[in-house]
Amino acid sequence: MTFPPLREELRGLQPYGAPQLPLDQVPVQLNTNENPYGPSEECADDIAASVRRAATGLNRYPDREHVELRTALAAYLSRDTPHGVSVEQVWAANGSNEVMLQLLQAFGGPGRTALSFAPTYSMYPEYARDTSTAWVQGRREDDFSLDLGLARELVEAERPSVVLLPSPNNPTGTALQPEAVTALCAAVGESGLVVVDEAYIEFRRAGTPSALELLPTHRNLVVTRTMSKAFAGAGLRLGYLAADPAICDAIRVVRLPYHLSSVTQAAALAALRHAPELLGKVDELRGERDRTVGWLRERGLQVADSDANFVLFGTFDDRHAVWQALVDRGVLVREVGPEGWLRVSIGTAGEMMSFKDALSAVVEEKR
Ligand SMILES: *Cc1c(COP(=O)(O)O)cnc(C)c1O
Repeated sequence: MTFPPLREELRGLQPYGAPQLPLDQVPVQLNTNENPYGPSEECADDIAASVRRAATGLNRYPDREHVELRTALAAYLSRDTPHGVSVEQVWAANGSNEVMLQLLQAFGGPGRTALSFAPTYSMYPEYARDTSTAWVQGRREDDFSLDLGLARELVEAERPSVVLLPSPNNPTGTALQPEAVTALCAAVGESGLVVVDEAYIEFRRAGTPSALELLPTHRNLVVTRTMSKAFAGAGLRLGYLAADPAICDAIRVVRLPYHLSSVTQAAALAALRHAPELLGKVDELRGERDRTVGWLRERGLQVADSDANFVLFGTFDDRHAVWQALVDRGVLVREVGPEGWLRVSIGTAGEMMSFKDALSAVVEEKR
């Protein structure tokens, strides 16, 4: 018997995560899709004041139902759908990754299957494993879109309890066409849930709708969001979902008691009051993204269309060598996605300049 007495299927596994390199060694960090613009001094002061007020009550457990926060999140979501979103439809947790885990705890499990389409978010299979849910991966087309016929066939063959669909997709940046959500909700039926992970939806191009609009027509649809990306709050750890109230009730059964601390609730509420400021750089980042896509294509590289704040580009015979050469020049991107591709997050104009300079030098060298 080896020590520690780990679950058989976890033996020998390494913890997963993007490499975190020190800022003084690699100053341009474009690898985890963060918003490069942090909160202003004024916003930080307001967050600090809210946390200060919460601090005098830290002897008490937080509001388990986080009603004030859910109310504010419902109001924020209601801007994206003519039907509105009610507080009963909203649930929040420590990052949308925790929301995802809670969904699998409640709706996955032994004898059940979770399904997604590769290339997709690399954390999903980990949550399936951790909840003893079987994991099935279909594939996307060469342009990273979904073939709806094939997707429906796979759903009918596998009868998944949970289908995970990021839109825009990570790492490709591809948004789902609304017909895809409708078709998959119908194919899955009431024996499963379709989870549309809209972590990057605020960065979508004009004309791309949110799946929130489809909530009234599909009881089995769940839309997850996060404050980590457009909202400039990755350090806050606040994710949330909108779904049928019965789905929120099911999550209440599996959530840890008092999972959202008073400090998190206070900080998130303050951040939401500053939504216009925190989201204020989204347009600029979208412009920078579109210029980056154009620049990469002008250099003859392949680039996936992006509705997110990152761009997948390639292809390189030895992508690890390109990744390392960029690191050596102080630029950290992500080695992720299909073989040969790299992903760059959209930073400030200055950071993108450094990225372009470094990549030009590296590509020149490799010629
Ligand atoms: C970054 C990201 C998230 C956000 O996770 P948090 O736990 O909210 O920080 C969710 N889904 C995808 C696909 C992501 O890339």
